[in-house]
Amino acid sequence: MTEIRCYGCGAIIQCADTKKPGYVPESALSKEKILCQRCYKLMHYHQKMESHLTKDDFLHVLQTVGEKDCLVVYIVDLFDFNGSLVPGLMRHIGYNDVLVLANKRDILPKSLKEHRLNTWVRRQFKEYGIKPLDVVITSGKKNMNFDEIFDKIDEYRHGRDVYVVGITNVGKSTFINRMLKNYSDASNLITTSEFPGTTLDLIKIPLDDHSSLYDTPGIMNEHQYTSVVGEKDLAYIMPQGEVKPMIYQLNDDQSIFFSGLARIDYTKGDKGNFICYFSRNMQIHRTKTEKADELFNRHKQLQVYGPASSMKEMKAYEFILPEEKRDIVISGLGFICIHAPKGKIKVYVPEGIDVFMRESLI
Ligand code: GDP
Repeated sequence: MTEIRCYGCGAIIQCADTKKPGYVPESALSKEKILCQRCYKLMHYHQKMESHLTKDDFLHVLQTVGEKDCLVVYIVDLFDFNGSLVPGLMRHIGYNDVLVLANKRDILPKSLKEHRLNTWVRRQFKEYGIKPLDVVITSGKKNMNFDEIFDKIDEYRHGRDVYVVGITNVGKSTFINRMLKNYSDASNLITTSEFPGTTLDLIKIPLDDHSSLYDTPGIMNEHQYTSVVGEKDLAYIMPQGEVKPMIYQLNDDQSIFFSGLARIDYTKGDKGNFICYFSRNMQIHRTKTEKADELFNRHKQLQVYGPASSMKEMKAYEFILPEEKRDIVISGLGFICIHAPKGKIKVYVPEGIDVFMRESLI
């Protein structure tokens, strides 16, 4: 039998196992274009179904890409740059040319200059030991810089295949859909969703008679907040548009809450500036640290969000701030640009969520 693929996610269509990718009931096989049950439910009922891709499957995909002579298009999320990197990517695709697309630019303040963002992304990559051929700042949602992206892909691929890689939720499917919409007459659009875990298998889009662009499946970063909250809370924490900076001045022994999801204590230092970049839904409060435990637990009951149900279940990360301003990133949730020379802070998040300190983005 010839292989049939789901036009949503690219998984091979099968009728044997409802739990495996590509499942359809036999009655659906007669259709001209087949959507697997998972994509069908996602598209028509917006129902989330679990992805079955394991870490080993994902590594296998990366290894396969590493063995090809191709251009790799690597999509990262500007709102959670560090959390959206593919761990160990260079180990697998070390010799390939890499074009980075830094996506979701629309979430960051408009006032930020593109050139500055671009330089910042390159410097961050350098710290991780990665030297991309080029970096383009983009927004799949706003169709930003797509002519440039198309030109660059064409220039850098030198007639070779293109593989698009990135972890789940960076906007890979949205990007592929844009490519299809803008540059091909294909009417089949790949499923995208607010829910992490939507892309399953390799999807192929012919570029010319000899080469194609392949979308590879992503895997969730389990250390991002977006991976540990439920559907309702995902819509709550993911910014839907440009984030508005919220500025707080803190003395030592003061704290800031981010809904019932995270907290920062300013434990030591002179008066410091804390500029918060989060979803507009986020309820941000400043309080005295001595009242913070009690308040946190009360907030938790008022807005039942997130995986930790009390302060006791939160893990603390301590940072000493340098002279220059720094960002503290709570992976998948947002970031705080802090200028508090030599100050000390404690960041509380549920166990397993990554917290980074990095060069300030803004
Ligand atoms: P994938 O898991 O990498 O394939 O990501 P999707 O394309 O399904 O996108 C994940 C989520 O991010 C969805 O809610 C998209 O609407 C959203 N998204 C994708 N691109 C952008 C973008 O450029 N800006 C914003 N604000 N959201 C985006």
